[in-house]
Amino acid sequence: VSDSPRGRLRAAVIAVGDELLYGATVDTNGAWMGTQLAEHGIPVVERRVVADEGDAIASSLAAALAVADLVILCGGLGPTPDDRTREAVANQLGLAMTTDPALVDMLKDRFRAFGHANLPRNNLKQALVPARAEVMENPRGSAPGLLLSVPDDPSKYVALLPGVPREMKGIFVEELLPRLRRLFTDRMLPVAHRWIHTTGIAESVLSERLQPLLPDDLGGVSLAFLPKLTGVDLRLTVRDEPDGDVARDALDRVERLLAPAVDKYRFESKSGDLVDALAARLGARRLTLAVAESCTGGLIAKRITDRPGASSYFEGGLVAYSDEVKIAQLGVEPDLLARSGAVSEGVALAMARGARAHFGVGATIAVTGIAGPDGGSEAKPVGTVWYAATVGGHERALHRRFPGDRDAIRVRSAQAALNLLYRLLGDDGTP
Ligand code: ATP
Ligand code: MG
Repeated sequence: VSDSPRGRLRAAVIAVGDELLYGATVDTNGAWMGTQLAEHGIPVVERRVVADEGDAIASSLAAALAVADLVILCGGLGPTPDDRTREAVANQLGLAMTTDPALVDMLKDRFRAFGHANLPRNNLKQALVPARAEVMENPRGSAPGLLLSVPDDPSKYVALLPGVPREMKGIFVEELLPRLRRLFTDRMLPVAHRWIHTTGIAESVLSERLQPLLPDDLGGVSLAFLPKLTGVDLRLTVRDEPDGDVARDALDRVERLLAPAVDKYRFESKSGDLVDALAARLGARRLTLAVAESCTGGLIAKRITDRPGASSYFEGGLVAYSDEVKIAQLGVEPDLLARSGAVSEGVALAMARGARAHFGVGATIAVTGIAGPDGGSEAKPVGTVWYAATVGGHERALHRRFPGDRDAIRVRSAQAALNLLYRLLGDDGTP
C-alpha cells in the first residue's frame, strides 16, 4: 500500500456539533460511515469530533487532509447561525461562497410543497455554497450534501453531509457512494463478503464446533463472529482480490468447510432477518400464519409486520396473557392450566392449536414463558419459555431457559419460536 496521492484511497471523517462534544448526542454517524466505508474498500484512518466553530472546523479539515484523500464532514449544514461547516470549509480551502440558483429554486419548491409561501431568509443560507462544489440532493431534508475537490490538490476531495442521521445515510448511499466509485474505482480496495446467518446456537458453542473444521490458513479469507440477541452472523471476507471469480471461489471453499457445524442453525435471508426466511418458506407452500403470544406480548406479530409484504401470509395474532384469555380465546383447558401451569409443553401446544382454530390458518406459533424479573420458581426459573409451532397436522414444542433481562428473554423467545416454525417447514419441502 502506497501513501502517494495515487495509492490506495484513505478517508477521514469529521463530525461537527457541540452536542456531540457535550455528550448529549453520540456520534453514531461516524461509526456508521466507518462501517460503510470499510465495506466499500475505503479505509478510514482518522475520525474527529469538533465544535460548531469556524476555526475548529477549518483546522480539523486541514489536519485531516494531511492524512487522507477523502474527508467527509457531517453536521452543521442547517439554516441557523450555529451551522458553520459550509463557510469554514470554503475559508480553509480558499474558495468563495456563491449562491447556487438551482438550489434556491429547489429550496423554494420544497418550502412551497410544505405550505410556506416564501422561503425563510435563514434557509437562503443553505443555497450559499463554496465555489466548485457539486450539490448532492437531499430528498429527506433541506440541507443538500456537497462534494468538492481541493484546489491545491485536486486528487483530494471533501464531502459535506447533514447531521441528521436519516438524511446523512440517504445522501451517503444514493449520492456520495456512486460518485466515489466513479472518481476512485482503481483506488478502492476490492472487498468481497459472504454472510452466514445462524440462530439457536451460542457464539461460544459455534466457535468451538468450527475450530476443528477450519485450518489456520483460510486462503485469504477472514472470518468474523457477529453475535446479536437473535443469533450469530458469520461474515467471511476477502480483501484486495481484484478478480471476483477468485474471491468467490475462496469464499465458497470456506463456506463448505463451515457447513457441517452451521447447517442446522443457518437461515437464508438477504436482510439477515429470520422473518424473511420464514416468509419465503411459508410463501413457497402458500401457507398463512397466525400467532398466539403470552410472554412476548405481541413482539412476534410486530417482528412479522415490521417486514414489508407481511400481509401476503400473516393473518393476525392474539396476545393471550391471562389464563382467562388462554381459555376463552384459544380453548386451552382450565384443567391443563391448573395441572401443568401456564408455562408448560401442554399449554404451548394448546395455544398453537387454538390459534389454528381461531384464525383458520395453515401454520401457527405460540409462546408462553417467564420473562421476569418476578414470577420465577425453583422448577421454572425466570427465562423458562415453552414455544410451539404447528403446520397442518404437524406440531412441535420446545423449551429453553434463556439468559438475560426481561427484554432479552422476550427477544430471544420470539426468535426461538419463529425458528421452530422455520425448522418445522424444512428446506426440502417437508412436511
Ligand atoms: P439540519 O439541516 O437538519 O440543521 P445539520 O447538518 O445542521 O442539519 P445538525 O444540526 O448538526 O445537522 O444535527 C441535526 C441532528 O442530527 C441533531 O439532532 C443531532 O443531534 C443529530 N446529529 C448530528 N450529528 C450527528 C452525529 N455525528 N451522529 C448522530 N447524530 C448526529
Ligand atoms: Mg449542529
